[in-house]
Amino acid sequence: MTTRKDWDTYFLDMAYMASTRSRCNRRHVGAVLVQGKKLLGAAYNGAPMGVPDCSEAGCMLVEEYELDEREGALQVVKKQRCIRTIHAEQNLLLFTDPKDREHSIVYVTDQPCWTCANMLANSGISEIVYHRPYPKDSEKVATLMELKGIIIRHLDSYEPPAGTLSAAQH
Ligand SMILES: [Zn+2]
Ligand SMILES: [Zn+2]
Repeated sequence: MTTRKDWDTYFLDMAYMASTRSRCNRRHVGAVLVQGKKLLGAAYNGAPMGVPDCSEAGCMLVEEYELDEREGALQVVKKQRCIRTIHAEQNLLLFTDPKDREHSIVYVTDQPCWTCANMLANSGISEIVYHRPYPKDSEKVATLMELKGIIIRHLDSYEPPAGTLSAAQH
């Protein structure tokens, strides 16, 4: 007997399915737009259409210094980031209708970065549900969503469907 999946699990599963289309080896991110339990859009992180992607041209890496907390101590760490791709959340906004975003929920595999969160905050959506945390921008993003009255939920105990996790994590 199989138990019926709850809606959160169902739509996060779909975000993970979308993420498998990503061709950036550093990070596979997927996002879906849901309005009234209807799926109205799906997107993943990728290069613009018709342009060589990370699997063809390699990742476009930039190095950044970030403050990181390790064992209670703040330290400066150097991190690499791929900037070839348009983030899943941004692609989702590019390919969905503003009407479809009214009172909608965005399910996304990863907690949005600051830029994506800023765009989502201005997109008409009401709620964000994510699985993997992204601590770097977490506080800023939480404050922004509170100001905007957008609910942001972390599905902590969720487990992605088999075969949807990328081999390489960033
Ligand atoms: Zn890449
Ligand atoms: Zn982003």
